[in-house]
Amino acid sequence: MSAEQKRVRGDASPVVRLTNVSKRYGGSTAVALDQVSLSVSPGEIFGIIGQSGAGKSTLIRLLNALERPSEGQVEVDGVDLAGLSPAELRTLRRRIGMIFQNFGLLSSRTVAGNVAFPLELTDATRTDRNAKVAALLSRVGLAEYADRYPAQLSGGQKQRVGIARALATDPDVLLCDEATSALDPETTRSVLGLLRDLNRELGLTIVLITHEMDVVRTVCDRVAVLDHGRLVETGAVADIFESGAHPATRRMLAALSL
Ligand code: ADP
Repeated sequence: MSAEQKRVRGDASPVVRLTNVSKRYGGSTAVALDQVSLSVSPGEIFGIIGQSGAGKSTLIRLLNALERPSEGQVEVDGVDLAGLSPAELRTLRRRIGMIFQNFGLLSSRTVAGNVAFPLELTDATRTDRNAKVAALLSRVGLAEYADRYPAQLSGGQKQRVGIARALATDPDVLLCDEATSALDPETTRSVLGLLRDLNRELGLTIVLITHEMDVVRTVCDRVAVLDHGRLVETGAVADIFESGAHPATRRMLAALSL
């Protein structure tokens, strides 16, 4: 069921929920994540901010089940990821779209070929696939670029291809891992504007990991601040900007006004 359908039904059970999640990497006594609990509601744009080493990448890897928690539960669409077989995990991953700082496009494939890639792993017919790819490229403003190769595109265009590819399987949630960190400020604004539009039009739930408060301010509804693996503050973006009190939050806000 899409986030929009859930909203219409008034069913706001979280799309993503972490309950007392801790993560220690093999053999290490240091904690990358320490008792983190959070939940993301359907249709929300949820930011997770922290400095380098705070645990952001670890959190993303737990959400798409590339890592398992040492303790606690990670649920997507109400399903505990720990209980899934490899086949069930593959199915669930189609409901989780992902975009990356370095775009992760296949250089040997055209723009259309990149967007079609996740659909080739489903049983969609070639006609349906082509129609879907055309609609997605048009939605991200790249209808004219279908036959180009990634090397012929700007950074902003590459990230639009990444977004189109991530949406190909109609995910319930889009994970954005420092998705605008490689882009200049103007391109960042334009990509964040596209994410906001997709959120409004499709009811797409977005979890966005960043080290930049400016990104949070521009696009997020709520934000959680991670510091040394601990979630130190969570709230509506306006409240955190106005009265965020934790030193880690103050540091991120101070960096913004430089
Ligand atoms: P961020 O993405 O916020 O920079 P990370 O999740 O990458 O933070 O890292 C959190 C902590 O976990 C850091 O102390 C880092 O050194 C440690 N860490 C991350 N990945 C690994 C790994 N594969 N093995 C051991 N330690 C790791």
